[in-house]
Amino acid sequence: MSSRPPEVGAGAGAWPTPRPDLGLQEGYHSAQVPVAVRLNTNESPYPPPREWLEALMAEASDMSFNRYPDRSARALRLALGELHGVPMESVFAANGSNEVLQCLCLGYGGPGRRALMFEPTYALHAHIAHLTGTEVVRVRRDEGFRLGPREAAEAVRRESPSIVFLCSPNNPTGLSESRATVQAVLDAAEGALVVVDEAYGQFAPWSALEVLSDALPLVVVRTYSKTWAMAGLRLGYMVGPPAVVQVMERVALPYHLDSLKQAAGRLALRFSSQMEEHVAAIVAERERLVEALRGMPVEVWPSDANFVLWRPLAKPGAQVWQELVERSVLVRDMSTLPGMEGYLRTTVGAPGENGTFLAALAQVLA
Ligand code: PMP
Repeated sequence: MSSRPPEVGAGAGAWPTPRPDLGLQEGYHSAQVPVAVRLNTNESPYPPPREWLEALMAEASDMSFNRYPDRSARALRLALGELHGVPMESVFAANGSNEVLQCLCLGYGGPGRRALMFEPTYALHAHIAHLTGTEVVRVRRDEGFRLGPREAAEAVRRESPSIVFLCSPNNPTGLSESRATVQAVLDAAEGALVVVDEAYGQFAPWSALEVLSDALPLVVVRTYSKTWAMAGLRLGYMVGPPAVVQVMERVALPYHLDSLKQAAGRLALRFSSQMEEHVAAIVAERERLVEALRGMPVEVWPSDANFVLWRPLAKPGAQVWQELVERSVLVRDMSTLPGMEGYLRTTVGAPGENGTFLAALAQVLA
């Protein structure tokens, strides 16, 4: 047996080889570069409220950490149910919305089944589907990255998926799906589960939560990572028919949500007015950012989210990305996604951060 493990994925001698279908899908991860202004992962620029932390610390001091957490996360799900006007049986929570997506794929995908997605979109939909042995079916959006109801419904009928992923607002384009498109997909989705990923839902003018019904195979996925300013906490959830939630409970690992996280997520909901103030501030900054970008030699997309997609016209995107890093500003280079060569995405930060970004970009493009 070799004395040292080989490079990941290489396989040598008696060293165990990973699943051959795994591939090395490393493309998604955003660069973690030490810079002063980080506008690359769509986090909130504002920390959660101090009072939230104090309430959490007070509860934590009374927790029995020698005991397993409440396996059904009852209090958290009740609170989330209250927020959305549904019973707790319609709510499933997990470690970030990525884990919710993974549970959905474990429950409804798997070998011999297909997941349909409309690209460019959030790369983890394909990645997680693939990891769970689900065949990934990619359909391209139109030139303007839009998805019309007719095209969407046709794709669903043609491909007979078990899962259809929509992302609204869509990452990385920032565009929301229309209600007509969501409805058309649902009408066409015979036997398929329709998943609307609303990681950025609070920034958008409408939500597929309005369409939910226990009689429809529709779930809406949300996260604490963006609007709730808790990306470090790793908490996300899904609202949908209890029949789907029961399947999620079968595929999630026992006690997957720790006691501290359950309390943190429940207590956060007490501070929804602060959260809404931050959303309003970010939306105002977003509009300022879009307006400023429109005055520069870049193509810019309108956004319903907390980020803006743009493409420099006179210089390659990768060069602009690099020159921004040299000025200590980190944005997201979207070039690893098919059809996104030269595209960059900027998270809306605090006003000072956005100002630094715009000034640096003006220099780079001058
Ligand atoms: N969905 C979308 C569309 C996202 O952009 C992200 C984060 N980049 C996630 C889900 C995952 O969020 P988290 O796992 O932090 O909840």
